[in-house]
Amino acid sequence: MVEKKFLKISDENIKRIINEIKLSDIFEKEANATLIPINRSEGRYKTRCIFHNDKNPSLFISDKKGVYHCFGCGSSGNVFTLIEKLKNYDFVQSFNYLARNYLYYDNYDYVVKHDIGRNKSFNDYKKEKKSEQKIINNKEKVENDYEINNKQIYSELLFDVTALYRAKLFKEINTNQDLLNYVKKRKLTLTTISKFYIGYAPNENLLLSEYGNDKETLKKLFDIGLIRQNEKGQFYDTFRNRLIIPSLDENGQVDFLVGRALDSESKFKYLYTKTKLENFYGLFWSKEYIEKYNSVVITEGQIDAISLMQEGINNVISFNGSSISEAKKNKLLSLKADTYILFFDSDLAGSKSMLTISKELLNQGKYLRLVFIPFKDGEKTDINDLCGKVNLRDYIIKNIYRPLDFIDKILNSKNIEEKDKHIIENFKNDFIEISKERKMIL
Ligand SMILES: [Zn+2]
Repeated sequence: MVEKKFLKISDENIKRIINEIKLSDIFEKEANATLIPINRSEGRYKTRCIFHNDKNPSLFISDKKGVYHCFGCGSSGNVFTLIEKLKNYDFVQSFNYLARNYLYYDNYDYVVKHDIGRNKSFNDYKKEKKSEQKIINNKEKVENDYEINNKQIYSELLFDVTALYRAKLFKEINTNQDLLNYVKKRKLTLTTISKFYIGYAPNENLLLSEYGNDKETLKKLFDIGLIRQNEKGQFYDTFRNRLIIPSLDENGQVDFLVGRALDSESKFKYLYTKTKLENFYGLFWSKEYIEKYNSVVITEGQIDAISLMQEGINNVISFNGSSISEAKKNKLLSLKADTYILFFDSDLAGSKSMLTISKELLNQGKYLRLVFIPFKDGEKTDINDLCGKVNLRDYIIKNIYRPLDFIDKILNSKNIEEKDKHIIENFKNDFIEISKERKMIL
């Protein structure tokens, strides 16, 4: 008779299962996932998410850390939560299953010695064991752990910093009046904050105190502009009392961080890291929708794009500023969309940017529409102002124009001053030229 062995459910054994069983193996064997290696020796992979309809691989796996995270639907967890989901098991069943089938050399028959009731999930167990949370390693870590593809040397660091700012936001959101007021003013819901990995840089040297003893990291932070040095040679955090908006590329890597001042007195409304600013904001969330609808809505600011996505308009990117470089132009043209809809502020600055970008697109024969936002009571209105007051989809449909009609709309409105109208009229002449050359009706 084979001797029966027992493996007790304990933090130690949980840790052992997480450490010894390769999460990537479980994805392959139990979920038939096709893994794309990011770094095989470190056990990092990505795959199409098995929990949502994922066109591009959004789910990242780290064997070393024993965690997975999907940037598309937010699913995250470890081997236990994965088995729970795949097999509809409770935690005890998952523990049994993993120990029996994957701790090969132990060959356990039963795993019955547990101190929790059935029908509980791993996360319930974790909650009960809160005091020993550190040993078990979990959800917080998964959520704050974006270790993924790292072709750029700063990518990983930017993720860590994003996680740090994010944790700070959730810690302070209920007590920090500045933060709360700003988030309310911008009508950002907690779901949105979570989905877009928005964070908060407190009015202190958060990064310095976190990384101060690590010279190598400190240098990187300095290089990408997150740490600065004053005349006295003292280092300080660049982002202070700012809402932090990370821009993820289509693969889920952080391209850059935007720090929006919460204090209206602040000299610079927006600050950026020095990384990959030529990229657009939002592609990570919108790429599949842009392809699906063969069209893209382009806003000027990141929060405008977020506002639209919060309202369910998903094929959106932010141009990330108003200037158009060669690199940005090429990126714009490489989007998998035939129709471009520009939706900037309709004041002079916004209209100028829209028309400059339009010119580039028209020269490439793109189908183009522009949204006009009339001033209200002589005041500028922007997408975020409209958010929550009107149905944005209907608003776009109602206020969308052909390029030349848009120009007339601007010229006949109070959105710009009389003395600036010649600037817009110059665009009109250019557009008429393009229209003749390309035989397009604009
Ligand atoms: Zn997913």
